Amino acid sequence: MEKIKIAIQKSGRLSEKSIDLLTECGIKVSNGNRKLKTEARNFPMEILFLRDDDIPQYVEQGVADIGILGENEVWEKDKEVDVIEKLGFGNCRLSLAIPKDEDYTGLDYFNGKRIATSYPKILNKFFQVKGIDVTIEELGGSVEIATGIGLADAIFDIVSTGSTLLMNGLKEVESIIRSEAVLICNKKLSPAKTALLDQLLFRIKAHKNGQGKKYVLLNAPNEVIPDIVRLLPGMRSPSILPLADEGWSSVHSVISDDDFWEIIDELKRHGAEGILVVPIEKMIL
Ligand code: ATP
Ligand code: ZN
Repeated sequence: MEKIKIAIQKSGRLSEKSIDLLTECGIKVSNGNRKLKTEARNFPMEILFLRDDDIPQYVEQGVADIGILGENEVWEKDKEVDVIEKLGFGNCRLSLAIPKDEDYTGLDYFNGKRIATSYPKILNKFFQVKGIDVTIEELGGSVEIATGIGLADAIFDIVSTGSTLLMNGLKEVESIIRSEAVLICNKKLSPAKTALLDQLLFRIKAHKNGQGKKYVLLNAPNEVIPDIVRLLPGMRSPSILPLADEGWSSVHSVISDDDFWEIIDELKRHGAEGILVVPIEKMIL
């Protein structure tokens, strides 16, 4: 039987989360001894552990069929691959930062400046569109020290909390793009592999749909049910089941984490009792 080959980061910020995602999809992966590749135990899948920078090229060439990596690397490498799904982790932004004591006057500040980055393609495109002339110093890593050692006037790098910038005496002045981990695939997958990819995507979506949501069950007197239903949008509409207790019903629905406490308070105010909140593991729409 044909197997689908997936490339994930060998070691780094996305490694564990990539394996976690596969696990959530019911795919068992063991990489105890950090091999280059391994096979899933219960899904026709081979897992290749690579540097994230190399994943776009391997997927373009079909050495791997699909891959998980940051969108930032996909844009920078600019290979012929399809981005098929955002995965909701590895969130960060690519920003321009300058020494903290400098006065920032807007994008024109960068005219004629030297900027160190590991993302020369993205940066070059950005300034070209803006019509601003900069010199780009390409670095493989440790970009944040470039201004301190006099290699550049500014940097363009990944920021998530900004603490690394602060530690290096820098301030973020422009956030250029946001990135998160994505699933990419080769442009010419065989029908058998496409079917496996569809199966994986179905599971990923079910997992993602359940994220940030809770299942709520509650009891309420029948006369307040219309008020309660209004508070609970649910996927379609909430389920309402009569209780053995005459004049009472049970309501089931899905609510999002964002307005969770507000909704619970409102439900109580309207006479809901015995409110039960349970996590959702998967949701098939
Ligand atoms: P590799 O050895 O695989 O080349 P790397 O050093 O290039 O690893 P990591 O630092 O592990 O890469 O980051 C991998 C990806 O994680 C980044 O490309 C980015 O998409 C994402 N990411 C999210 N938050 C951050 C952050 N604060 N710093 C760096 N990367 C982040
Ligand atoms: Zn890398």
